[in-house]
Amino acid sequence: MLKLLLGDPNARKLKRYQPILSDINILEEEISPLTDDELRAKTALFRSQLDKISNFDLQRECLDELLPEAFAVVREASKRVLGMRHFDVQLIGGMVLHEGQIAEMKTGEGKTLVATLPSYLNALTGRGVHVVTVNDYLARRDAEWMGQVHRFLGLSVGLIQQDMNPLERRKNYQCDITYATNSELGFDYLRDNMANDINEIVQKNFQFCIIDEVDSILIDEARTPLIISGQVERPQEKYQKAAEVVLALQRAAEMGKDGIDPEGDYEVDEKQRTCTLTDEGFAKSEQLLNVSDLYDPKDPWAHYITNALKAKELFIKDVNYIVRSNEAVIVDEFTGRVMPGRRWSDGQHQAIEAKEQLPIQPETQTLASITYQNFFLLYPRLAGMTGTAKTEEVEFEKTYQLETTVIPTNRPRSREDWVDQVFKTEAAKWRAVANETAQIHNQGRPVLVGTTSVEKSEVLSALLSEQKIPHNLLNAKPENVEREAEIVAQAGRAGAVTIATNMAGRGTDIILGGNSDYMARLKVREALAPKLVKPEDGHKPPIPLQRQDQSSTGFGEENENSKNIKSQTITKSVPVSSLYPCILTDDTEKVLIELERKLVKAWGDRKLSPIDLEDRISTAAEKAPTEDPLIKSLREAISTVKSEYDVVVKQEEKHVREVGGLHVIGTERHESRRVDNQLRGRAGRQGDLGSTRFFLSLGDNLLRIFGGERVASLMNAFRVDEDIPIESGMLTRSLESAQKKVETYYFDIRKQVFEYDEVMNNQRRAVYSERHRVLEGIELKKQVIGYGERTMQEIVFAYVNSDLPSEEWDLQQLVSKVQEFVYLLDDLKPSDIKGLDIDELQAFLQEQLRNAYDLKETQIEKDRPGLMREAERFFILQQIDTLWREHLQAMDALRESVGLRGYGQKDPLIEYKNEGYDMFLEMMTNMRRNVIYSMFMFQPAPPEKN
Ligand code: ADP
Ligand code: MG
Repeated sequence: MLKLLLGDPNARKLKRYQPILSDINILEEEISPLTDDELRAKTALFRSQLDKISNFDLQRECLDELLPEAFAVVREASKRVLGMRHFDVQLIGGMVLHEGQIAEMKTGEGKTLVATLPSYLNALTGRGVHVVTVNDYLARRDAEWMGQVHRFLGLSVGLIQQDMNPLERRKNYQCDITYATNSELGFDYLRDNMANDINEIVQKNFQFCIIDEVDSILIDEARTPLIISGQVERPQEKYQKAAEVVLALQRAAEMGKDGIDPEGDYEVDEKQRTCTLTDEGFAKSEQLLNVSDLYDPKDPWAHYITNALKAKELFIKDVNYIVRSNEAVIVDEFTGRVMPGRRWSDGQHQAIEAKEQLPIQPETQTLASITYQNFFLLYPRLAGMTGTAKTEEVEFEKTYQLETTVIPTNRPRSREDWVDQVFKTEAAKWRAVANETAQIHNQGRPVLVGTTSVEKSEVLSALLSEQKIPHNLLNAKPENVEREAEIVAQAGRAGAVTIATNMAGRGTDIILGGNSDYMARLKVREALAPKLVKPEDGHKPPIPLQRQDQSSTGFGEENENSKNIKSQTITKSVPVSSLYPCILTDDTEKVLIELERKLVKAWGDRKLSPIDLEDRISTAAEKAPTEDPLIKSLREAISTVKSEYDVVVKQEEKHVREVGGLHVIGTERHESRRVDNQLRGRAGRQGDLGSTRFFLSLGDNLLRIFGGERVASLMNAFRVDEDIPIESGMLTRSLESAQKKVETYYFDIRKQVFEYDEVMNNQRRAVYSERHRVLEGIELKKQVIGYGERTMQEIVFAYVNSDLPSEEWDLQQLVSKVQEFVYLLDDLKPSDIKGLDIDELQAFLQEQLRNAYDLKETQIEKDRPGLMREAERFFILQQIDTLWREHLQAMDALRESVGLRGYGQKDPLIEYKNEGYDMFLEMMTNMRRNVIYSMFMFQPAPPEKN
């Protein structure tokens, strides 16, 4: 009703773009006749207009004015180099991004191409644009693919990859447009702020950032902060000894809480998750350890004992953690998922390792950390795109001030979402999944099955093998990302069955009938790699394309069960669909063999790295003009192979369309509806036919953990055959409410992570900017003198009580304190400052300090000019880094302790804020004092005489 009155707000927003859209379309007439050079010249023209303006806000206005023509230019360039002309909806998406919003565009709508528009426009300022994707492979793909448009128009395009060294990184960050993953960007930011020299810094100032799959990055990954850590030395025997001691201690009876002598050694509070020693417990532990005081600062034990008690009583094996290949692995108590690599902090994990008699891993200490929330908020302008944003609209708005606009699809959607099928048991569910897969496969339609874990994929794989259904299995291991993208690209071929965990092959488009481009590139690579690629470079022999080589996925944790499945799938040798549509003609094979010979001659026998070869193949597959005869031959070969494949692919595409397109099967509800939608979105792209269905069971984690009692009672209520799906309105409601509970649960976690990091954020920015100034070496002396003046002021405040008459001030003490810091003021006597009031006293001491500092500088620089600045830089960095690191630990500890206090009346977050702020001020004070002290104490070694 309200919508009717006010109009759909989204529709109104979209309407605003209509006039600009028309402008762009009209400009096409003017722009398409231009020659390539004339088109390219537009870039310089735009730039010259922007260069005249130095004010950022005015520049922004100028960008808005340039937008229609710039977009028209990008569209024309894309037509020429990629053969793709931006659809009108893509232009709207581009405008939404330029405004710093989230553009929701469904899978397959061509978001990658959309990003070229605002990135080109904003890069014209010369201040750098970052385009962020979820993995290295996609970053590279997009930089190569979309980079063609930018390079054609005269912009430089950079790419950041995990294995790059700082030099390469800096070069790539200097480019107009840089493609990178969220984690590389974040870690480079942290590393830059740990740099010891301005030349080690790789990033430049942030301007504008476009995040692809923005929900994955800003929501799913926002639960875990980025952390750089170093190791600390702590004696491992202490953990072991503590574990032994607590075995001998007795837990107090519950009634001990009421003040009755507990007659035990320690008390456990399960709700607050704490353990406390009683007096008896203290005595007994000290006796067992043969020490006189558990709190002795020279040989502290209390912390070890408490952690060991917690390990004994509160951390339960197979509930809170599991033991796997000699490691204690955390289990998320709500989702039941194992979290390899995560560790409890503050020695707790080590205490558990001691309890389980596992090797005790060294403790790590945080050196720097930031959450994605605060990292991305560093960009003055941020934009994002994804197929699924609307459900998280509020969070985007609240946390990131990002508005969401839903862009209509280019063609009407014709995907069917079939009703869920819910089964009583998991086993029955998987049978049903296998049956539906078989049935649809037999119709010649491709099927994509999404699973939530590797283990589950394998269960299904075994069931399909029993039915002799050929299939590909993708597990999203980082090292397979690229290969998986290639397989997913073929997941649309007739009758193809692909099982993929959530992450596998994401960002790769599934084209009905298959992707002849990918196939041709792949084939050429397969033919060339053995003779061109260095074997020691970790290059694996070409992939047996029929099936993922399962033995190479090497899951350390395989149990007996999955081993059986594995041997089954391999020994039964089910016929599987190849990734290639047909065998090449002899002529084409010959072309490949000749090409190989030619390339080996030019590029050497097995001399290239896999990436080198990949790069060259990509360049050859691009349409950009090239002078290199070898690339030209490579290009011809790819195109020959492609045209042979195309014949078959076109036929297959027609067939797949006739029988109904891609069918997507979900095998479990995910932690949010958004993730479910991501999976469904893989079918029915660009108006294609397609269908989706979710299969669920009452045993699924979601229902088991969040479903509550009602669902549990349903288990028994249904006495039907377990292979018949359950239909019940109550169940549907339970499902929805369970999913909402999970969404809220994760939202709360993210909110908490963000709120607490928020407190740190201002401190981090202050420290980092102080640090940065030092690295730049701007007015170092002034900075240090400032520290000194503050220190003098603080000394005055500490030793002079303004309520007392000045005769009663203890000037002797004050003078000694000053001399402690500045020994050069040894001549200062209380009588020199007698009779001054507080302000005069301060001014006098500050004057003295400045003079002393000049004197120090003259002494220091007598033999080595410039040494003073070096010393200043060194000491400030040293102090900031040491104290900041300590501060980070202290803040961690504070966070834990306010969490405990939270059970009282106080809001833990406010406590954390207030105390954290005080601690920060204290840290900064210490930093200034230590620097002043160190500067005056500094005595360089005399120069060596030759
Ligand atoms: P998304 O990221 O939105 O899911 P992609 O960027 O992967 O989609 O693009 C999906 C497919 O659509 C790609 O194969 C791409 O080449 C194609 N495509 C995108 N835009 C256009 C266009 N304007 N004209 C033709 N094809 C396009
Ligand atoms: Mg994409």
